[in-house]
Amino acid sequence: MVQFEYNKSIQEYTTFGVPVKAELFCTFSSVTELKEILSDKRVENKPQLILGGGSNMLFTKNFEGVVLKNEILGKTTLKETEKEVFIQVGAGENWHEFVLHCVSKNLGGIENLSLIPGNVGASPMQNIGAYGVEIKDVFSSLQALNLQTLEIEEFENEDCNFGYRESIFKNTHKGKYIITSVTFRLQKEPVFNTSYGAIEAQLNTMGVTEPSVKAISDAVIAIRTSKLPDPKEIGNAGSFFKNPVIDKKSFEVLLDKFPSIAHYPQPDGKEKIAAGWLIDQLGWKGKTIGEYGVHKNQALVLVNYGESEGRDIYNLSSEIIDSVKETYGIELEREVNIY
Ligand code: FAD
Ligand code: NAP
Repeated sequence: MVQFEYNKSIQEYTTFGVPVKAELFCTFSSVTELKEILSDKRVENKPQLILGGGSNMLFTKNFEGVVLKNEILGKTTLKETEKEVFIQVGAGENWHEFVLHCVSKNLGGIENLSLIPGNVGASPMQNIGAYGVEIKDVFSSLQALNLQTLEIEEFENEDCNFGYRESIFKNTHKGKYIITSVTFRLQKEPVFNTSYGAIEAQLNTMGVTEPSVKAISDAVIAIRTSKLPDPKEIGNAGSFFKNPVIDKKSFEVLLDKFPSIAHYPQPDGKEKIAAGWLIDQLGWKGKTIGEYGVHKNQALVLVNYGESEGRDIYNLSSEIIDSVKETYGIELEREVNIY
């Protein structure tokens, strides 16, 4: 029996914690339940929104439609070879708990992605990434319910058009599918990636000479805990903007004008510019307006210190985009999903 809640506050379901309501709200913990909800007369023709951990969204107004909270759980080992293990994970499982599950079994591949908030089902949405690893590196396939046909479809790695914080589900397929499970390919003898950011320095501080799945996960947890605001204490959705990737020619013009610009060459010859550097240079870091602002340690992270409205935080992001555009000629793109 489907249980709908009307005019429901969803403030506590998002990490930004802005005060908004959903016209209709319900949870589902199986594909059968989900299909039952979607076939219900009360839902027909209403806008639908899938909610995972709510850590990559900002509501600027109440949601006039139905918010469906995904609570599909379960981890199943589908296949094991000499070198790899394929695990199918319910979309409602917490991402970091799944990482810790793999760490406890000494399975490698996602240790660099420790402590990313949110659920497994959203991980392919923006091809979550950190410290030089993206889920596309360990992604085998996913199952998703087509909202038009109410049939389950399977997507292999190449079907997902994974890119830098991008996938088909954040673009052409946005709002058209509900991801119900994801299958990952984990390594029994992983090749570690410790050269990114502060991982090596942190391993040294911890006295680790031989990296392991557990040591790298611990190092990433330590760095992230020291640098990033905990959403339980300060509302935020991680990086609000993507790092822009620009062509070589435009980059050279920029470098000439701003020789200290933080940048990283890409395999295709383009250059990734650290958006946090651009925002920081313009004096935004640590800026507070009323109960919201830009985090003091990380210019990419917009924060809600109290009961701020989503619209105010959104307007602040527009001001930042305008000022970066004016000085550097670069149009920053929001990474956070806006509703
Ligand atoms: P939600 O915010 O609930 O949803 C995000 C989008 O996906 C929405 O459009 C939603 O409708 C859609 N969606 C959710 N579940 C499904 C589903 N099952 N099927 C279809 N659509 C769905 N991201 C990174 O990539 N790297 C990081 O290092 C990182 N660090 C972060 C640190 C902090 C402190 C915070 C707050 C966020 C960070 N993020 C990071 C962003 C965020 O945690 C990830 O994008 C995460 O995958 C979002 O998961 P979620 O379940 O919270 O998604
Ligand atoms: P950081 O290590 O201080 O680095 C700053 C920026 O430089 C990052 O955005 C990163 O790009 C880039 N960078 C650093 N070393 C690089 C290298 N060797 N090669 C290419 N690019 C490099 O960043 P941080 O803020 O502490 O975050 C650490 C990691 O966690 C990053 O990968 C970041 O993406 C991830 N993170 C993501 C979110 C989110 O919400 N999306 C939030 C917090 C942290 P990339 O971002 O492309 O890696």
